[in-house]
Amino acid sequence: MKSNDSIKSTGSGKQSAVNSMRVPVYRDAGFVLGDAATTSEVFAQEAEHERHPGKYIYSRYRNPTVIAAEDELISIEGSNWALMAQSGMAAIDIALSIFQEKGRDAPWLFFSEIYGGTNSYIDNVLVKRRGVDIIRFDPSGESYDLVELERLIDAHRPSLIYYEVISNPLLIIADAPAINSIARKYGAAVIIDNTFATPMLYSPLSDGADLVVHSATKYLGGHGNITAGAICGNDMELMKKAIEYRKYTGHMISPDDAYRLHTQMQSFRIRFKRQCENAAMLAALIAADPKTESVLYPGLPQHTTGDMAAKLFSGRGYGAMVTFSFSGSDSNMMRMRRDRFIEAVSGSIRLVPTLGDSHTILMPVEPVWGYKYAEPGMIRLSVGFEEPEYLEEVVSAGLSEVS
Ligand code: PLP
Repeated sequence: MKSNDSIKSTGSGKQSAVNSMRVPVYRDAGFVLGDAATTSEVFAQEAEHERHPGKYIYSRYRNPTVIAAEDELISIEGSNWALMAQSGMAAIDIALSIFQEKGRDAPWLFFSEIYGGTNSYIDNVLVKRRGVDIIRFDPSGESYDLVELERLIDAHRPSLIYYEVISNPLLIIADAPAINSIARKYGAAVIIDNTFATPMLYSPLSDGADLVVHSATKYLGGHGNITAGAICGNDMELMKKAIEYRKYTGHMISPDDAYRLHTQMQSFRIRFKRQCENAAMLAALIAADPKTESVLYPGLPQHTTGDMAAKLFSGRGYGAMVTFSFSGSDSNMMRMRRDRFIEAVSGSIRLVPTLGDSHTILMPVEPVWGYKYAEPGMIRLSVGFEEPEYLEEVVSAGLSEVS
């Protein structure tokens, strides 16, 4: 964080340094260029697609407040560059689209266990509108069979592989280093959506991923009050393509959102650490209740890919999502218990269709994902950074209301 003491105030007519620690919100749509010679020069430089321009031109291209937020993310992610976008989906569109070129028609391979909105984007935009050839890779139960993955890659030779390190809602952990090395063996690029794991638990770029995307709406923003996305990478050519694509499609974040994200990301590590600790505590509490079954939390000993989580995340935490199911003699009883719990905790834990909020929130899985995940009593908890004692009390009381 740099202090902003070089900024001049002009409001009173007097010039004085503004001794602020904050980054200003530059809401300019276009910036002052002054004369024709400067205009020629900066527009010529524009073709270089640098992240830091010699002079700012237009906020859809670049904006100083956005660059400050990107710099903050670079320091969190440890990447050579980061670009902000107006949503996680915009970031995903940028990351994928820069690999799409006329005449390059090798298929792209997507893990099927990814965010539902990304799956809809694949079907409705990539396949239906752009004619991209897609292959999907399904998990075997609650883990990924990498022998099967390699067989699929060998058979179809995709030029790009896309997955999430922690899947949603089953929280399957992908063996990212092994997957990336299979991709490299076959010359495929790798894009990872690391929204759930966050840069605190895992850095995909250090294990050979080409690009990382985040829905910054979630843990990076962290308060459920910003819709934003980010792309991070090390390859400067990919950065230039991403800057160009963001400019032409208008996927740029607003300076106001960038300002808030810049501020809120400064507490990201402390917030997410507490969220992981709270989630571990709640997962153990819920697993100990005889009315629940299949508590999916990568930090629990029974989790199918828990060993992978321990290896990849090296004790930094296991994420802040907990998926669990109420048991019952039949589906109706499971749904009844689910609904009773949702009602019992509703004064403190709201049903909100997002995740990574400051508050603990929940979603029933069946009404959102349909019958794909067999268990009707399933709930996905996104754990917040409230006081642990308070959360323990709320969830214990909720569980005891379920008969
Ligand atoms: N990636 C993941 C893993 C998500 O959960 C979401 C949204 O829930 C997105 C991407 C899309 O992000 P946004 O809603 O910010 O566009």
